[in-house]
Amino acid sequence: MRVCVVGAGLIGGSLGLALRGHQSIESVVGLGRRAEPLKRGVDIGALDDWHLDPSKALAEIDVVVLGVPLGAIAEVLRWIAPHLPDNAIVTDVGSAKGCVVNDVTAVFGQMLSTFVPAHPIAGTEHSGIDAAVADLFVNRRVILTPTAATSEKATAIVHQLWALAGASVVEMSVDNHDRMLAMTSHLPHMLAFGLVDLLAGATDHEEMLRYAAGGFRDFTRIASSDPVMWRDICLGNQAALLEALAAYRADLEVLSEAVAQADGQALEAIFTRAKNTRDAYRHWFET
Ligand code: NAP
Repeated sequence: MRVCVVGAGLIGGSLGLALRGHQSIESVVGLGRRAEPLKRGVDIGALDDWHLDPSKALAEIDVVVLGVPLGAIAEVLRWIAPHLPDNAIVTDVGSAKGCVVNDVTAVFGQMLSTFVPAHPIAGTEHSGIDAAVADLFVNRRVILTPTAATSEKATAIVHQLWALAGASVVEMSVDNHDRMLAMTSHLPHMLAFGLVDLLAGATDHEEMLRYAAGGFRDFTRIASSDPVMWRDICLGNQAALLEALAAYRADLEVLSEAVAQADGQALEAIFTRAKNTRDAYRHWFET
């Protein structure tokens, strides 16, 4: 397979590192808007070559992986569309899927049979090619959300690509993905950003942060994530995220009322159920 990664950042660079060297991967070429991160991609071994011109990068390519933020997907699709070889498979790594399907449909006039929406459930709060690591996807899940239009062959090839990177690949519907990820990823990022922003607005925040410890560190690590990427995810998964925020707001009301009523029994019951759930499933998300 000859692979082109558009946007060699954390995810695109890590995929290049993971794929290069496999027998079935002939080359990984980078395409982007700036030379510097692409040159760096070659230096660190994530890319064989790089281009700023899609006609050069996409010549004789089998699979194109869009590693750009969700807000750039439509623009990048318009950029590469005239240069895509016939039958080239296109996939993405975006954290929300409905918006990607909408972008593909808007740019091409229909959902392409050769487009496989995908989302690696792996990452860090760091961005850019220098944050890329070869084992980012090892034993991590990658969710493919093929639509009714997606060909089985295209899905199988993207499946194979992620398996080569060490990931465990699953398939689900676009709606299911967006609803679940809203709860498990997008909502927690909202809470972390919101909490740190709340503190930032306090006049004595320096004093408060001096006394912050492990709990604050664990809860807010993801508030160091890239603001542009997260702006795009919130807007891209707007409906599901609004539902998750409403559910959480209702939950906070229950907690708030229990505190106001000094209802220790209610608090303990909620905390016990939460602890039991987290303890029972920790092996799935703690490595
Ligand atoms: P990143 O490290 O910031 O890399 C983004 C890459 O996209 C950079 O190479 C950037 O190029 C390029 N880019 C941005 N806008 C572009 C445009 N308009 N045209 C062409 N290239 C453009 O981001 P990332 O963390 O890899 O995230 C990329 C995607 O992966 C996002 O869709 C995100 O939702 C998804 N994702 C992220 C994580 C995570 O934990 N980070 C996890 C799973 C999925 P420049 O260097 O020129 O800016």
